[in-house]
Amino acid sequence: MTGNLIEIFSSAQGEGPYIGCRQVFVRFEGCNLRCRYCDTAHDVGSHAFCKAETLRSDEPELSVANPVSVGDAAEHIQRLLEAAHHHSVSFTGGEPLLHADFISAVAERISARVFLETNGTLDNELKKVLPFVDIVSMDVKPPSAAGESLWLRHRAFLETASVKDVYVKLVATADLTEDEALETCQMVADVRADIPLVLQPVTPRGGCVPPRAEELLRMQERALRVLRDVRLIPQAHTMMGIR
Ligand code: SF4
Repeated sequence: MTGNLIEIFSSAQGEGPYIGCRQVFVRFEGCNLRCRYCDTAHDVGSHAFCKAETLRSDEPELSVANPVSVGDAAEHIQRLLEAAHHHSVSFTGGEPLLHADFISAVAERISARVFLETNGTLDNELKKVLPFVDIVSMDVKPPSAAGESLWLRHRAFLETASVKDVYVKLVATADLTEDEALETCQMVADVRADIPLVLQPVTPRGGCVPPRAEELLRMQERALRVLRDVRLIPQAHTMMGIR
């Protein structure tokens, strides 16, 4: 079994409640959505090689030909895990659940907690990897971001993910409507009112800008009427200049 990977590297988590935790990141090519504010060049086949960091001064980075085998991916991840203490291994993208079988096979070969960063739309694929996953970071993509309605798919996904340590992240742009924010809150509350919701003001790029500060605070106030844990957290890795 093989997977198309963009990079394997060690860094600090830059978003959400686990911000700052040291992780090994495994970034996949490919996504089933096309969000307006996407910052990842993830088209399948666009990376002939996967960049694999080593944390060694004599050979800091290797180039591994794509597609990468399960064994090779696990070996590169495990090397980083042994070079420094890490909180977990984050499978990200793109949309990592397009590679659910690959993730399960890699997870069986490494000794670390598994953290899944997903757009929260591929419920059947989530079910395949769920036994191997410890933490689910689920994005909600409202129509103003995704260009289509994904509410039913998000709801089914969150119901499945709710047996794990899960939080939901909503990237707030100036285009996000009040109805979309309320729909997100209601969906989370219907599954479990104690699931944390992160409101993440978009990092300005490609014409996308965040709402004004007072609008973000108003959004948080309204969300806290139906949810117990709602946090405003911007992307931190861009501030620190790290990947
Ligand atoms: S789900 Fe994530 S990777 Fe996919 S298009 Fe949207 S922002 Fe980009």
